[in-house]
Amino acid sequence: MIPYGKQDIDQDDITEVVNVLKSDFLTQGPKILEFEDSISRYVGSRFTVAVNSATSALHLGCLALGVEKKDLVWTSSNSFVASSNAALYCGAEIDFVDIDSRNNNMCTEALEKKLVTAKKKGMIPKVVIPVHLGGLSCDMKKIFDLSKDFGFKIIEDASHCIGGDFDDEKIGSCKYSDLCVFSFHPVKIITTGEGGAITTNSQTLAKKITALRSHGITRNKEEFKKCFVPDWYYQQHFLGFNYRITDLQAALGISQLKRIDSFIKKRRKIAKYFTENLNADFKTITTEEIKISSNHLFIIKNNRRDELREYLLKHEIFTTLHYFPIHLQPFYASMGFKLGDFPNTEKYGDEALSIPIHTNLNEHDVNYIVEVVNKF
Ligand SMILES: *Cc1c(COP(=O)(O)O)cnc(C)c1O
Repeated sequence: MIPYGKQDIDQDDITEVVNVLKSDFLTQGPKILEFEDSISRYVGSRFTVAVNSATSALHLGCLALGVEKKDLVWTSSNSFVASSNAALYCGAEIDFVDIDSRNNNMCTEALEKKLVTAKKKGMIPKVVIPVHLGGLSCDMKKIFDLSKDFGFKIIEDASHCIGGDFDDEKIGSCKYSDLCVFSFHPVKIITTGEGGAITTNSQTLAKKITALRSHGITRNKEEFKKCFVPDWYYQQHFLGFNYRITDLQAALGISQLKRIDSFIKKRRKIAKYFTENLNADFKTITTEEIKISSNHLFIIKNNRRDELREYLLKHEIFTTLHYFPIHLQPFYASMGFKLGDFPNTEKYGDEALSIPIHTNLNEHDVNYIVEVVNKF
């Protein structure tokens, strides 16, 4: 069976992890800072905070931007549930913006329309979370302009796209956002097993997220308040969590990041082959878009999607859906969301299918996938 995604681990990755096992620090050691610095350098952000998952990063991002009870957060329903769960962890209310059927990302016209209506009701969201589906960036310049006009903050859910580009910069540079979140789950572009990171150009946000990652505790004497706690101890200033990544994971991340350019190059090559050789009516991405996407996913569409999936399964090609609309998940439906709320997202959810794309696919696999899909 050809899987839809798979990690790429080499001997250097293994050696780096084993070296940490033999060192003094399994966690809270030097590898975490080194990993964070290497991400900042790669994406061009001032700061990076590494955590134990992208889900944690989204949660801390919302908290750092002050999301709390009665606040509104908007995201795309065409995403993994973590994008919207993050707002609910903070007690906020969630709503969605429909996708643009041209690229399946948050539709900026729909966003603008929704903002105009929300402004009249005094219900502007505190945070909007655009999701870069499959590694292709949303129109961040437009969303950034809207954030200035209407007054909201932006967290990019870039779980799919470390290595992707937008406007001649790496995604994660936060040129058009307050915060940007990456995932290092094994199916994503680079992996740390479980893991995530959040990038920003704001020192205040980076500090806040760093403290939230570890119980709301600080060991920095300069930040200490006058209190009963002895000054050789640590102080807790607010309620945080244990969302730390380990040094074992950070070492794997550093090693993986060294190969990211070759990963992206390989993915772009496969995606290019797919677009050039699949029948036109399957396609959801253009040759131009492939050049800037991380190509985390290769999504095709068909109005007999379930049959297509079965057919591919019979031919030992495993495919899956990214994503069934979040708002129609039973948990979200129980909050009042219903069929018809976001028609483009729903239509997409009926037709989309992610075919295998990862660095372990060889020429034969890629040819075979195209042949079988086209035959259907
Ligand atoms: C994978 C993913 C997440 C969650 O990532 P974890 O690191 O597994 O917590 C969030 N959002 C999107 C869009 C994802 O694909």
